[in-house]
Amino acid sequence: AAPAPETPGATPMMAQYIEIKAANPDCLLFYRMGDFYELFFADAETASRALGIVLTKRGKHGGADIPMCGVPVERADDYLSRLIALGHRVAVCEQTEDPAEAKRRGPKSVVRREVVRLVTPGTITEDRLLDPARANLLLAIGRRKLSETAHAYGLAAVDISTGRFSLSEVAGQELSGAISRHDPREIVLSEALHADPALGRLWQETRAAVVPLPQGELEPAAAERRIREQYGVSTLEGFGQFSRAEIAAAGAALLYIARTQLAARPPLQVPTREAGGATLSIDAATRANLELTRTLSGERQGSLLDAIDRTVTANGARLLAEHLAGPLTDLAAIARRQEAVARLVEEPALRGTLRDTLARAPDIARALSRTGLGRAGPRDLAAIRDGLDVAAALGARLAAEPDLPDALARLGRRLARIDADLVERLRAALADDLPLNRRDGTFVRAGYHAEIDEARSLGQDSRKVIAALQARYAEETGCRTLRIKHNNMLGYYIEVPQSVGEACLKGLMQDFVHRQTMVDAMRFTSVELGELESKISGASDRALALETAVFEDLAARVLAGAEAIAETAEALARLDVAAGHAELAVELDWRCPVVDDSLSFVVTAGRHPVVEAALRRSGEAFIANDCDLSGDTRGRIRLITGPNMGGKSTFLRQNALIAVLAQIGSFVPAAEARIGRVDRLFSRVGAADDLARGHSTFMVEMVETAAILNQATRRSLVILDEIGRGTATFDGLSIAWACLEHLHEANACRSLFATHFHELTALGQRLARLDNATLKVAEHRDEVVFLHEVVPGVAERSYGLQVARLAGLPATVVARAGAILKGLEKAERERPGRPRIDDLPLFANLAPPPPPPEPEPAADDALGLMLDAIDPDALTPREALDALYRLKRAR
Ligand code: ADP
Repeated sequence: AAPAPETPGATPMMAQYIEIKAANPDCLLFYRMGDFYELFFADAETASRALGIVLTKRGKHGGADIPMCGVPVERADDYLSRLIALGHRVAVCEQTEDPAEAKRRGPKSVVRREVVRLVTPGTITEDRLLDPARANLLLAIGRRKLSETAHAYGLAAVDISTGRFSLSEVAGQELSGAISRHDPREIVLSEALHADPALGRLWQETRAAVVPLPQGELEPAAAERRIREQYGVSTLEGFGQFSRAEIAAAGAALLYIARTQLAARPPLQVPTREAGGATLSIDAATRANLELTRTLSGERQGSLLDAIDRTVTANGARLLAEHLAGPLTDLAAIARRQEAVARLVEEPALRGTLRDTLARAPDIARALSRTGLGRAGPRDLAAIRDGLDVAAALGARLAAEPDLPDALARLGRRLARIDADLVERLRAALADDLPLNRRDGTFVRAGYHAEIDEARSLGQDSRKVIAALQARYAEETGCRTLRIKHNNMLGYYIEVPQSVGEACLKGLMQDFVHRQTMVDAMRFTSVELGELESKISGASDRALALETAVFEDLAARVLAGAEAIAETAEALARLDVAAGHAELAVELDWRCPVVDDSLSFVVTAGRHPVVEAALRRSGEAFIANDCDLSGDTRGRIRLITGPNMGGKSTFLRQNALIAVLAQIGSFVPAAEARIGRVDRLFSRVGAADDLARGHSTFMVEMVETAAILNQATRRSLVILDEIGRGTATFDGLSIAWACLEHLHEANACRSLFATHFHELTALGQRLARLDNATLKVAEHRDEVVFLHEVVPGVAERSYGLQVARLAGLPATVVARAGAILKGLEKAERERPGRPRIDDLPLFANLAPPPPPPEPEPAADDALGLMLDAIDPDALTPREALDALYRLKRAR
């Protein structure tokens, strides 16, 4: 978005535009003109490029053409969603008076216009702009000083689309993890926080839009006042104790909401406070690495969330994502969730009924929020009616069930407690077929409101009345070709053909008022017809006005129960999540883990949910593996060596995912699991390609590793995959070595460490709680088969050459590599213990490479074509293997 141009010499309309644009410099301005929103100047250029719509001109400003583009009002939502997705903010400017009014003020008067709303990524409420399965969070951040160097950060997370509002406070080093847990669409903060160099990286790296607000508007007193005003209370004490940083954050959130929603005030729930340490802390890198809610490339598909989501409502899907983003650490809370899931696993019939019923529940949280913002349509009210109806049915079903575990019993009671009068009224008032907009009318059920029925029947009867009138006029005038017709210019009129007789015409002229003479017809009206006309059009206006009043009344009744309806929505979501976990557990044979206060970590026959699902799709089996990292007072480290493609990363991640699943209250993909509550989870992969972020990959790896060594406690779970790979061999080996020692001695936490530095396995003799494990490989002649089985011990070889061959490296290169390897191994045997690569007489000892093979004649046989189709660089190792098999078969 661009600054507004200067005004002098502008037409009155342009002057108005420029003034409004100047007040909203950081937004694209949608300026309402009739049936279009128009954009001008730089906004027009930006929007036409972003939306692929035609850029035209309209008039001149300062001697130059004014660039312009427009979007039709009824399709504005589509365009808005695309602009929002691209990170733009849009100010919607409407005409706020009747154009006739402006004309009355003077010929040069411009219709009054006002910005009624700013559309920003974190404040949208329309279904068409929202992802049903994802919360749409606005995150506001405040700060308080703890000491000269340390700060605490308050976070206010608001989902306007559902009214959820939570507050929490975190220490400085946890800020990044907390932001990534919330995964906001938009972040608001003070200019000072935004400009703080220590935090700059956070704002650059987030996917959210970041909006700094002027310091002056974020005074603590103003923040408190805003919260009091939002909830109409005189003190915040009733809400609990909040820190100054939390209040600052809540104030900033409310300020921003007021700024973007203008007149409308969304019905927000009372802020809940998340206690520190109540969730398993997972930093941003770990979250990304484990692909919890989205993959490294940003997709939901392929993530853990996608693999475990069996919910049947949008509300439930959002809650599941929230659970996965913040697993619990409170054992009692975990146990409550597990009990509900376990019961639903045991009772397939109950589970089936609940899920079938839930599937009929519309998204009442979002419908309710739109109602509060005055943006609801008749279908939103119907959604609330149907949602409450479903809740009542579920409540009744659960009430009939004996000995329910506590969590389910409580959900059942909550669901049963709906406002039956409200449902009854909505049922009585709303018609079966509902229009999208309330402006379209015809949504009130016949029989609900006598005057609406009357007004409507007048409209519907008008045809009959007109027909009767026509018959009477024909009779009276003796002119049987007389017709009553309607057009937009004259309204209703009487028409006779020119060919009617003289006598007839005379009578007509006497009784009626002549309006028009056409080539072959004459048109008249009568006082009676005029009255009928205004009655008919008045009736439809009146019907609409009455319907609007009914709508307002219903909306007010809904809002009077907003808090209870929001609770019902929450209960529906919880039940959906529990039933979804149960469905998943049954479908995939997952088991209930024991989560306790020990430092155990025993997983028997564990699997990786995402890899297993992918293998299942291609008809292959996943090899289950055990893992034991338990210690009484300090955790064990398992050091895993083994060939590439052996399954090291899969094994590491599956154990981290099992811990996460256990702590969200889900069953886990293992025959058995016992997990001592994990407080923090860390996962790092060495040398991930990170060029896009402009950091050296090695630097990133070290920064992240440092964070782990500094923060992991005895209760943490650490997963390190190929740390040290990002630098020269000896540097990398030394760093990995030192990290392992530190993890073992200082952090003493449960850890899995995968490496290709075989030298590290020697540490097994020196470090008491370090075990070596490797992935089993079968060799047959010169072929290797990865068995993906984790066994105690050390990898004998790395099978690099075999993997290279499988991956499609040219045979000559593989053969040459084999020769080099032999030479290296011989040198190693002759001078053991010496640094290897650096001082080897590499080329002296070896035969020169064979000459490159003669280029083959162009292959036109099947094999040749298949070969031509293979691009070795583009293949995954698995695809390479498949390609090899295909080639062998083809020969
Ligand atoms: P590494 O980290 O040792 O290079 P990965 O963990 O990336 O190996 O695994 C490579 C491939 O092997 C995976 O994509 C998967 O297809 C397969 N794989 C890994 N573990 C298993 C397993 N336990 N059972 C079956 N296939 C597996």
